[in-house]
Amino acid sequence: MKAATTFALLAALALPCAAQEDPSTTRPPDRPTMTESTLSPRDAALADIGAAIARGEQDKLAAAFTAGFDAGLTLDQAKEVVGQLYAYCGFPRALNAAATLMKAESQRVAETQGEEGGASRPGEPQRQAFTLGEKALEIGTANQTELCGGPVKGPLFDFHPQLDAYLKAHLFGDIFARDVLDWRTRELVTVAALAARPETEPQMKAHVGIANRNGVTPEQTDAIVARVRRPADPAALPKDWSPIPVGAFNAAYAQYFTGRSYLHPLTTSQVPAFGVTFEPGCRNNWHVHHAETGGGQILICTAGRGYYQEWGKPAVEMTPGVTVNIPAGVKHWHGAAPDSWFQHIALEVPGTGGRNEWLEPVDDAAYAEATSQNSSKNTPRQ
Ligand code: MN
Repeated sequence: MKAATTFALLAALALPCAAQEDPSTTRPPDRPTMTESTLSPRDAALADIGAAIARGEQDKLAAAFTAGFDAGLTLDQAKEVVGQLYAYCGFPRALNAAATLMKAESQRVAETQGEEGGASRPGEPQRQAFTLGEKALEIGTANQTELCGGPVKGPLFDFHPQLDAYLKAHLFGDIFARDVLDWRTRELVTVAALAARPETEPQMKAHVGIANRNGVTPEQTDAIVARVRRPADPAALPKDWSPIPVGAFNAAYAQYFTGRSYLHPLTTSQVPAFGVTFEPGCRNNWHVHHAETGGGQILICTAGRGYYQEWGKPAVEMTPGVTVNIPAGVKHWHGAAPDSWFQHIALEVPGTGGRNEWLEPVDDAAYAEATSQNSSKNTPRQ
């Protein structure tokens, strides 16, 4: 039941993207890129359209519309994608996308004039009424329930009934009731748009579930996410982000991390100290620093925001200056917040018989739970 409630909550949280663009927080794929053949040319174009609208990238969007037309997407369907994604990405991005679509269509008409089957692609007329009026809430609630596999409710909707009503009556009513696009296509572009932005990761995961209920296979959602995401680029971090360099990709320990981390050795003599930088969402596996005497680890946050968690305890939020002392033998993990880069200095506390034991990854559910708590009130171990 708890999982279902959480799922419903996340599903309904799929609201407009945040306004600011921050390329430094874009995450790379967690999984290897799937083969392109998993997606049809039309699906691939739709994924690219959704991502480009979400990022506000007009050149890429124009190319994606053209690829979509080539794969059989009609102008009305393309318009409908833009219309739907206003609800997930905001009016400014949707209006810019509409202008790009208008240009792409004009160009296509000009280039194909005289060709058989060329010119505009009117497609099917938009049959559904623009708004459903008084029936919107009823129809939208039914659509939302069917899409998600159960009624969507939770404390957030009780707290903000206005948003709940917009979701049900407008997004799942006025928009999803229109028959220009099937629900599979609507969910496909939604997953792509949400995957393109780091701050909408929880909503993206919820919509992967909804997409899988509505005709997009898990292999296809994997392929969409892998296609749309970009490797995070630490070079995009502000120059004054930290006095400690990000360093080189931490390839040697990558097998013990989810996401990418970077290592900058500060000193290897006396007390070995390393600057470790985590991209947003990156964390190391559960692990234990073993020692016969002494040992353990000290972490000092130097930039960004992250978390430290001991097994069975709430996570501790780490911001610059926050220090945690980790005794030998304690099972724990450390890593970035979902929406922020994170850097700490890791000090190896001197001892004898020291060795690290790497355990299971911090899975997405555990990570989401740990990082969603109001953990800043937790006191770091002194
Ligand atoms: Mn550690």
